[in-house]
Formats: sequence, structure tokens, C-alpha cells
Amino acid sequence: MLNNKRRGLVLVISSPSGAGKTTLCKKIINEVKGVTLSISATTRKKRKGEIDGKDYFFKNHQEFSEMLKNKEFIESANVFGHSYGTLKKEVLLKIEKGLDVIVDIDWQGTRQIEKYLGQDVVKVFILPPSIKELEIRLGNRASEDKENFLKRMSEARKEISHFSEYDFIVINNEVELAFNNVKSILYSERLRRFRQVKLDQAINNIL
Ligand code: 5GP
Repeated sequence: MLNNKRRGLVLVISSPSGAGKTTLCKKIINEVKGVTLSISATTRKKRKGEIDGKDYFFKNHQEFSEMLKNKEFIESANVFGHSYGTLKKEVLLKIEKGLDVIVDIDWQGTRQIEKYLGQDVVKVFILPPSIKELEIRLGNRASEDKENFLKRMSEARKEISHFSEYDFIVINNEVELAFNNVKSILYSERLRRFRQVKLDQAINNIL
């Protein structure tokens, strides 16, 4: 029988704030087998309903600096004036074991993580159907004040300008459709030859 053991991959999902990325990521975790979400550390304040250790590891500035010094991050970046970072412990062992890890980070982090992990990384960019729709979605976020809203709209335009650095673009017009598209990307990427462990040996057995 063909040995189809494989190395896990890192599915980077980026988008402007409000494009529905969080919902999409959670849906993938809940509905696709063999996938786990990397929980980032951040210095930003907890929003209503968020749970420490589930949504983020919420840290103060000193704790975050300490973690940086101890080289606990694969990548880190400053987004909207707060520090965010992907932890090595959330990613490296898991992909060795053949699990896929979803990483919800911005374009700056995507560049760094790709430098670190090379072809283990698959980059997907989620777009809202229109800027108007994005305004509506961000405007509806109860936790945002007016100043923050305008800042996020301007950041959203900047984030979108980096779309061409990604392998795949998915428009999130309708969640179920976007979810199916991301799932197709994941399933196809899992089959890449270079992710198959001990493939030579398996092919030799067939021949
Ligand atoms: P939010 O504060 O709305 O949860 O996230 C704001 C932005 O920070 C999003 O674009 C999100 O993708 C990005 N982000 C979240 N975690 C990380 C991380 O660990 N590293 C980087 N570079 N960006 C992150």
C-alpha cells in the first residue's frame, strides 16, 4: 500500500480586518480533520467575549519583550500599535507530526514566516466583496470606537495592497462558498509531492 504519511503545512490566512477571516478560520478548525489553529501572543487588550489562551495569549509589554528575547516567536509584528507574534511551540512540533496549522497573521508576519519555513507555508488572502461591505462589517463591530474604525479602514486598504504576495485569493462573499474554496486549497496542497514522507520508498515498493 502507498505510504501517504506527510509533513503538515502552515496555512497562512491574511485579510484586512473585517473580511470574515476569524469566522472562516474557526469553521475550518471545527469542520476539517487534521487542522489546528495557532494561537498568537499579543499586547492588545482583550475584546469582549475573547478568552485568554483560546483567542490569543494576552501579554503585557514586558512579558512580550521577554518572549522576544527568549526567541519564542517564529515571527512578530506591530499591527495597529500593538505587538503580535506567532509562537514556535504553536507550530513547529505540530507540522512535524503531520498536522496542518492555520496561522491568522498580517502581511508582515507572512513574509517572516515564509523566510523561516519555506515551502511548508501556503499563503491565502481573503478579500471582502467590496470596500463598502467592509465598512459595514467594521462599523457593526460594537467593540470599535469611531477613531479605531477609521484607523482600521485605512489599515485595511494597506493590507489589501499586499494581495500579490499571496498564493491564493479568496473572496468572502458568502461564508460557505469561501470555506469550500479554502478547503479545496488545503486538500490540494496536502497532496503535493514534496510533503509526502518516504515517498521514494513507497514508489519503489510499487515498482
Ligand atoms: P485583531 O487584533 O483584530 O485580532 O488582529 C489584527 C491583525 O493582527 C489581523 O490582521 C491579524 O491577522 C494580525 N495578527 C494576529 N495575530 C498575529 C500574529 O501572531 N502575527 C502577525 N504578524 N499578525 C497577527
